[in-house]
Amino acid sequence: MTATQAWTERYAGALMNTFGPPKLVLTRGDGAHVWDADGREYVDLLGGIAVNALGHNHPRLTKAVTEQLQTLGHISNFFASEPQIELAERLVSLLGTEAHVFFTNSGAEANEAAFKLTRRTGRTKVVVTEGGFHGRTMGALALTSKLAYREPFEPLPGDVVFVPYGDIAALDAAVDERTAAVLVEPVQGEAGVVAPPTDYLPAAQRIAHEHGALLWLDEVQTGVGRTGAWFAHQHPDLVSGPVTPDIVTLAKGLAGGIPIGACIATGGSGKLFDPGNHGTTFGGNPVAAAAALAVLDTITADGLLDHVTRLGSRIRDGLAADRRVTEVRGAGLLIGLDLAEAKAADVVAAAQDAGYIVNAPTPDRIRLAPPLVLTDSDVDGFLAAWPAILDAAGVGVSTGSTTEGDA
Ligand SMILES: *Cc1c(COP(=O)(O)O)cnc(C)c1O
Repeated sequence: MTATQAWTERYAGALMNTFGPPKLVLTRGDGAHVWDADGREYVDLLGGIAVNALGHNHPRLTKAVTEQLQTLGHISNFFASEPQIELAERLVSLLGTEAHVFFTNSGAEANEAAFKLTRRTGRTKVVVTEGGFHGRTMGALALTSKLAYREPFEPLPGDVVFVPYGDIAALDAAVDERTAAVLVEPVQGEAGVVAPPTDYLPAAQRIAHEHGALLWLDEVQTGVGRTGAWFAHQHPDLVSGPVTPDIVTLAKGLAGGIPIGACIATGGSGKLFDPGNHGTTFGGNPVAAAAALAVLDTITADGLLDHVTRLGSRIRDGLAADRRVTEVRGAGLLIGLDLAEAKAADVVAAAQDAGYIVNAPTPDRIRLAPPLVLTDSDVDGFLAAWPAILDAAGVGVSTGSTTEGDA
């Protein structure tokens, strides 16, 4: 029995079976590389699902977390800490408009906070998009469209209306004077990296505001440099004009792997909660805030937004060169591709055998969300290995036409 097999057995004996059997048991990481319990090395092109922005074992993140823990590790929200205040100020300045922040520990919790915030408008209806994913807690699940996730847990909080993603006319028809908020991902991550037409977010803003509703953008997956812009709604390839959301939710990459989330609301929306309306024990924890500040500092100091943009287009061009890939989408290092055949699970397995971690969000789509510190040599290796990975997975050539990505 290998070490991996032994750990996998113990996993099944002790952990709830919510994720199925683990694909690997990982023991350490460095940069964009990880090692399993049997000492095999992999290039991590998933990055903890868009979380490990600085990769693994980044010295600046380690230093920030260690020094903060040695200084002040946790306090209750009866008190304030310097990292929490600094991080809120930094996020507001990146957003570029007056705003207030509520910190949480995850993306679902950031969305729960935002969901509750929208109720403070005095309205209850929320318009959301098909294919959208917003988390697994009861409120976030109510906003998530996937039937398989929702059905076992109904009834969920109500007054949620679904419209097709990217369809401006459908949004126009659904939003009315009862609508508290329109909730949209700038790019749908869990759906397989799907971007709407570039005029969708500006139109969503106009439609929401015409009816006195809030525009709420879920940037849990797309935010904090992932697409090559600080926020996807600021990315010139993704939006045709300026977008000023009323609410932005963040999590995943924000603290590079230390649990954190943020619900940011601009203007008057940032003042909708009164004392006692919402709370959390860990949210805004000094260690998590210090980690997030280290991530933001490193993205700036190391020019990672440009790096992400350059590497992302290299990867997309390389992947699109194979005719068994029918479409490549995304921006920066959030990349989705369609396979000519629904063999995404086989591709994940073949990639793993070849030493690469990739993800299959749907049966015919592959998603990559590697660390923002991925190197050119990691990309060279992956693109060189890619055709053989498709061979090993038995993916055939498409009979249809090959199309380029939209961003
Ligand atoms: C991952 C994700 C969430 C949920 O975040 P958790 O930290 O898993 O609760 C919400 N929205 C989007 C867009 C996500 O990608």
